Amino acid sequence: MTKPVKTSRGGLNRGRRVAVVGAGLGGLAAALAFVRGGAKVEVFERAPEITEVGAGIQVSPNGARVLAALGLEAAAAERSITAEAVEPMDAVSGRRLTRFDLAGRAGPVYRFFHRADLIDILLTACRDAGVAIHTGSEIMPDTLPAADLVVGGDGIRSVLRPMLNGEDAAFFTGQVAWRAVIDHPDTAPLARVWMAPGQHAVTYPLTGGRLNIVAVQERQQWAKEDWNIHDDPGNLRHAFRGLSGRLTGLLDKVEAVGLWGLFRHPVAGHWHRGNIAILGDAAHPTLPFLAQGANLAFEDAWVLAACCDAAELPEALPRYQQMRRARVQRAISTANGNAVKYHLDGLPRRVAHLGLRGIGAVAPGAYMDRLNWLYDHDVTQG
Ligand SMILES: Cc1cc2nc3c(=O)[nH]c(=O)nc-3n(C[C@H](O)[C@H](O)[C@H](O)COP(=O)(O)OP(=O)(O)OC[C@H]3O[C@@H](n4cnc5c(N)ncnc54)[C@H](O)[C@@H]3O)c2cc1C
Repeated sequence: MTKPVKTSRGGLNRGRRVAVVGAGLGGLAAALAFVRGGAKVEVFERAPEITEVGAGIQVSPNGARVLAALGLEAAAAERSITAEAVEPMDAVSGRRLTRFDLAGRAGPVYRFFHRADLIDILLTACRDAGVAIHTGSEIMPDTLPAADLVVGGDGIRSVLRPMLNGEDAAFFTGQVAWRAVIDHPDTAPLARVWMAPGQHAVTYPLTGGRLNIVAVQERQQWAKEDWNIHDDPGNLRHAFRGLSGRLTGLLDKVEAVGLWGLFRHPVAGHWHRGNIAILGDAAHPTLPFLAQGANLAFEDAWVLAACCDAAELPEALPRYQQMRRARVQRAISTANGNAVKYHLDGLPRRVAHLGLRGIGAVAPGAYMDRLNWLYDHDVTQG
């Protein structure tokens, strides 16, 4: 097992010219990690301004460690809600199955952010540290910026990934996700996972008295993999009709909703070539069932900068991929498995609910400990 590398000011990143393609969560975290090591960093974002879809994002301890190491802990604490528990719910009866406490666990806390706040925290820190941000700058394979290192943080439809890997063979999972934010006065600091046959929803509070809703349904009707697709809130309500009023009452409040087709993509085989490296969704798009896509992108950003600080690129970039690929693959496999667990029907569903109740009663800590490999990982310690 390769040991993480600690990034340090004054290493090989000092004076390096780094161009980051994409001002998403992964790209901005990478820009900040490099500039903190003394690199001259430019970010190229195709959108005319840096905005985010109106939705929430959960940052787990493994991602929070990177934010803290980048000097963002205070801003993160101020602009997020600290999660206290996860509650699996029976979405048919509306009953809570059990509760798993997050508060009191060792290490950083879990946080619920509005994505716009998290982007703003990273963007402000980048600008303060001297990163040049160019909006309205779409990078194409034949317009790559001149730099010592080009970092592809250009997301699920990356232009850099196919340059390194050719086209990937994504396939529709037969699931779609709606995303919405509603005003909601009861903002208990916990995530609820509402499970029903063939569908589930996750709800958690955001700052400002809002509630984030992600609702997933198995269906064969294809939907585009793009958050800019708006849907009629009536379609969301129709998909979840007949479930507990505790859930459908929340869906009744939805006024605007995005719809996204969930696709499985293979993890890229090649994360680097020459002076190009990719990270985050560009390297490994992740289904949302473990809330890890952005957290893994933060980890990638840190490890990439740390590897480049410690060695010249021909050694650093293979090391970066070697340190990341197996972990990312494991997280993605775990997320894929959750989709099945959340959507059980009939006897398997009853058995699973009994199991959750049982473990919640006798060994709730053990249930959470099964994900220690994920949340306790600290890429910032070398
Ligand atoms: C329903 C749902 C819920 C989720 N919830 C969570 C969660 O709770 N926690 C979590 O960790 N993850 C979550 N994720 C995953 C997470 O949103 C993504 O993994 C993460 O945003 C990826 O970040 P990124 O920076 O790699 O890509 P992106 O955020 O997609 O950013 C890519 C950027 O690159 C720009 N760009 C693209 N092409 C070009 C180009 N050619 N030139 C210039 N700029 C370009 C884009 O405009 C964009 O700004 C969720 C995902 C979904 C679908």
